[in-house]
Amino acid sequence: MDASHMGADLESVLITEEEIDAKLAELAQEIWARYEGQDVLFVGVLKGAVMVMADLMRHMPGSVPMDWMAVSSYGSGTKSSGVVRILKDLDTDISGKHILIVEDIVDSGLTLSWIKANLESRSPASVEICTLLRKPDAAKVEVDVRWVGFDLPNEFVVGYGLDYAEAYRNLRVVGTLAPHVYS
Ligand code: 5GP
Repeated sequence: MDASHMGADLESVLITEEEIDAKLAELAQEIWARYEGQDVLFVGVLKGAVMVMADLMRHMPGSVPMDWMAVSSYGSGTKSSGVVRILKDLDTDISGKHILIVEDIVDSGLTLSWIKANLESRSPASVEICTLLRKPDAAKVEVDVRWVGFDLPNEFVVGYGLDYAEAYRNLRVVGTLAPHVYS
């Protein structure tokens, strides 16, 4: 789905498909340099990270394995609370492995800091985070995100894996919705 297919529902395009692709190619080089020759596992958080994982992995100049978690955070509406329940756990025993958490967006960072602590309790060799997008509030939480694609203004965004009520995940760009969509 392109921005043109959104019609009046799309207010603005914040990041284009080309910008996302170029950034992921750049991050992939840095990440490969960090993990080459090591026992690494990419861990994605469903469902938002699906697109980032797919494109980041394909930019890697060698093979990397992936696994997935699904969590639900007890938030109201568009805000997260940091109280997390695991809906689907990893299939992999991660002890001794270098873990890269691949995320779509860090907003408050509450969900991510819970997931990082949870994975660290399983005796991995290391846990690092890569996120395509980061919002200003993320700075308030003590979660060290090693690789960030783009810093965003404090607005609710959709596309490239991010949804509003499960819609727009397949939009190729990252953008904001027109006010009428919410009413
Ligand atoms: P956090 O715990 O960092 O506040 O955010 C948790 C989750 O909230 C993110 O993984 C993402 O699924 C969702 N989220 C945060 N900000 C946005 C946003 O701007 N748009 C969408 N669609 N989801 C968001």
